[in-house]
Amino acid sequence: MRVLVPVLTKDAIEKKVAEVALKISDDYKDRELILIGILKGAFVFMSDLMRCLAVPVKLDFICASSYGAGTTTSGSIKLTKELGIDIKGKDVLIVEDIVDTGLTLSYLIDYVKSFGPASVKICALLDKRERRKVEIKIDYSCHVVEEGFLVGYGLDYAEDYRNLPEIYHLKL
Ligand code: 5GP
Repeated sequence: MRVLVPVLTKDAIEKKVAEVALKISDDYKDRELILIGILKGAFVFMSDLMRCLAVPVKLDFICASSYGAGTTTSGSIKLTKELGIDIKGKDVLIVEDIVDTGLTLSYLIDYVKSFGPASVKICALLDKRERRKVEIKIDYSCHVVEEGFLVGYGLDYAEDYRNLPEIYHLKL
């Protein structure tokens, strides 16, 4: 049986996203920022985040998949949508839903850097530390969790729960 245990309410998410957006707007004052969202999980977060930013942005998405329908990492990352805009010499912020082992992000950082951007920083909705395998500098994160499998606000379990406005811990 699947049980959903509340982790972050809609209001709490809204507040945390606004706080992070304020920091980003401050750090990139008078600069243009390219947001690169990691599909599919980050699309809800990115959509709220970009509307809270006070700097001009351009955006694109890349799609990486590593998990299939389970809750543990397969370790192999597949890029199913490549970058479609020119980021050479630009300031880039990669927007991710959740960093777990860090394997996906470390692969994607190298991929993004290969296009020659001026800078690359990381913004993650959730920083889950329990199973980190590679060290990743997360420049902006909304919330730290130690463990568990989270769903809602864009995050899925076998494509379910992405539409929930809150974030839950899924117990199987
Ligand atoms: P990593 O490569 O850091 O282990 O995993 C990153 C990706 O795995 C995330 O972008 C996300 O798609 C998926 N993932 C990791 N932990 C969770 C979780 O708790 N819930 C959900 N829904 N996806 C997760």
